[in-house]
Formats: sequence, C-alpha cells, structure tokens
Amino acid sequence: MSKPAPIAFLDLPRQQARLESGIRSRVDTVMKHCRFVMGPEVVELEERLAAYCGASYAIGVSSGTDALLMVLMGEEIGPGDAVFLPAFTYTATAEVVLLLGATPVFVDVDPETFQIAPASLKARIEAIDEADDLEPRVIIGVDLFGQPAPWNELRAIADQFGLFLLDDCAQSFGGAYHGRKLGREAVASTLSFFPSKPLGAYGDGGAILTDDPERAELYRSLRTHGEGRTRYEVLRIGINGRLDTLQAAILLAKLDAFEDELARREEIASSYDAGLRDVVKVPTRVPNTQSAWAIYTILLPDADARDSLQSTLARAGVPSAIYYPKPLHFQPAYREQHDETISLPVAEALGAHVLALPIHPELTQEEVERVIEAIRNWSASRTK
Ligand SMILES: *Cc1c(COP(=O)(O)O)cnc(C)c1O
Repeated sequence: MSKPAPIAFLDLPRQQARLESGIRSRVDTVMKHCRFVMGPEVVELEERLAAYCGASYAIGVSSGTDALLMVLMGEEIGPGDAVFLPAFTYTATAEVVLLLGATPVFVDVDPETFQIAPASLKARIEAIDEADDLEPRVIIGVDLFGQPAPWNELRAIADQFGLFLLDDCAQSFGGAYHGRKLGREAVASTLSFFPSKPLGAYGDGGAILTDDPERAELYRSLRTHGEGRTRYEVLRIGINGRLDTLQAAILLAKLDAFEDELARREEIASSYDAGLRDVVKVPTRVPNTQSAWAIYTILLPDADARDSLQSTLARAGVPSAIYYPKPLHFQPAYREQHDETISLPVAEALGAHVLALPIHPELTQEEVERVIEAIRNWSASRTK
C-alpha cells in the first residue's frame, strides 16, 4: 500500500485553488486603478470588518503588531508605565510595550483555557501599585488560539484600577463572547491578517477596531505619520502603518468565504473532541463562547509523551506544532523584565504539555480521521 500524502499544517495552495477566481478579480481591479496605497478597497474592507464585528470603526493597518503598537502610542504609553499581559502568548504582545520604553508585567494563565488568569492579574496589579515605581496603565487581554479571554472579569479589573483595556485579537477574528463577535470587548481590539490567522492575507496586514470616534481618528492619524486633516500637517509622531490596497482586496475576497471556513473549523474541532477525548486532554469548551479555532491544542501528561507523539505523528505524515515552548518571561529578550522570585506556574509548565494539531478549513474529513487514528494508535502502543 502506498503511503498517503503528508497533511499540511496550513494549506495555502488548496485555499488558493478554492478562492482563486474571486481573489484574482479583486486583484485585477486594483491593478487597473493603481491606487496601491489607501485605495478604495481599504475603505471597503474597513466597513466590512466593522459591520462583521458590530464595531463602530475599523482602521486597516500594516500588521497585528503595528496595530498593538499604535493603540499603545494612542494612550501615550512610555517609560515608567506598566502594561499587564499574559506570559503565555506570542512575542508581539509584549514586544510593542518594550519598543515604547514601557514595562511588560507578565501574568499567569488559566490551566484549563490557557487565557490570562484574573486572580493572577489582580495580584500583579496590586503588587505593582504597592511597589510604587511603575504606574499601572494598560491590560492587554489576548484571545489565545481563537478562544475569547475572560472579558467580563478583565473589564471589572480594568474599571477597578482605572486601566485601559486592549484586546489582542490577532488569533481570534470570528470568535464570539456571550453571543457577540469579538472586537468590542475592550476599548480597542487589534486584528492580524498574517496568512496563518483565521482571516489571512497574502502577506502582512492588520486592523484596529473601536467604538470611540476620537480614538478612531487618532489611529488613522498614527498610521499615516501622525498627519492631521491635510497631508502635510503633522500633529504627532506616528508610523507608516497603513494596510496595502492589494492585501485589502485579497481580504475582501476571502471575507466572502469566511463564515463557511469558521463553520468548517468548528466541525473539525468537534471531530477531534469526539475522537480524542478519551486518549488526550482536548481543549476546554468555555460556556457562552465560540472559538475561531485558529489553533487546536491538546495536552499530554509530560514532555516525553508530547515529544514521542509529535515524532510518531511526523512519521505518519501528520504535522503538529508547539505553541509556545516557553513563556515570554523565560525568553532571553524578556528575562530582565521579570522578577525571577515571582513564579507563574501555569505559564511555566504549559510548554512541556501542549501540542497543536492541524485545523485549517482545507482539511478533508478523511485527513481529520487520519490525524485521530494516528493519535489513537500512538496511545494504544504506549499502554501496551
Ligand atoms: C500573530 C500575532 C500577533 C502579531 O500579528 P502580526 O500581524 O504577525 O504582526 C500579535 N499577537 C498575537 C497573539 C499573535 O498571534
């Protein structure tokens, strides 16, 4: 019997085959009008994104990282300011804080959901308040892996301490919290259109969502070098943070298929849940939330089991990934930012246990069954 073809972790060629004609026709339109910077597709996409999330404003920007950066610039975050964020996230969430000279304060995460843990957040804010050398300013909640952060709790804490609340929604466009789409849980929410995110461009891109008209105007200014109402009026220091017209055109075509893709991701997650829950720990479903399933992460009892499963899967042509091998405060770039006498036990342990399975909408049901079977075979061989 011939070996089946390897499964892709992210299958952009198949995705392109499915969506090609719509994308090409959108791209052709841009090639004709040649308004490559801030063309009409950027405005159209902004309107579509805002309507999709029920937000008043969407501002298309150059990446999810620049979106975070500009929101913090908008609050004039800088030296002496403390920004609270989960230790278990992608580096971009913390990187922007340091780029502005402010201090990231790492917070532990929940062992079931991997989301920022409200009790740890509160304790970290109180400790910083007490020590009195940094001013608590911002909480960044991250909707990790497609699942919503605990927004009701985060809002209550932000209100109690008078902090600005930012939603890093890079992985979770399309997810929902208590019946509404993510994008309105914080004062500002940031999206990434990196190709592997639920709504991916053919390059870099991002957006900021807000209901606040003044902040929307501020973000529009910041993404174009701090310009005012006329082009050569410079009100503030900004960046070149615009979304490309070509990326907006591609995203418009992809947005048409997005709800179907979300439904397919949910179907795959349900198949994995049903096929795997008796052999590994499958993701915890939080009541009243819907994941966008950017990433489907199972937990293994220890690093040996995880590594053994990962290499067994690789031999069977099943790709997997480890998000994230280390919490940020263990990374060389951030170590100095963290007081090592403070342990964040969950974030510090997760890296040894996590394994992400392929979950993109191009997976066939047959491939999903192959992933399940490979994991079940591995499990059976270990208990023999
Ligand atoms: C991908 C990602 C970002 C950064 O997005 P880019 O568009 O790649 O700059 C920020 N935060 C999280 C949690 C992400 O996963």
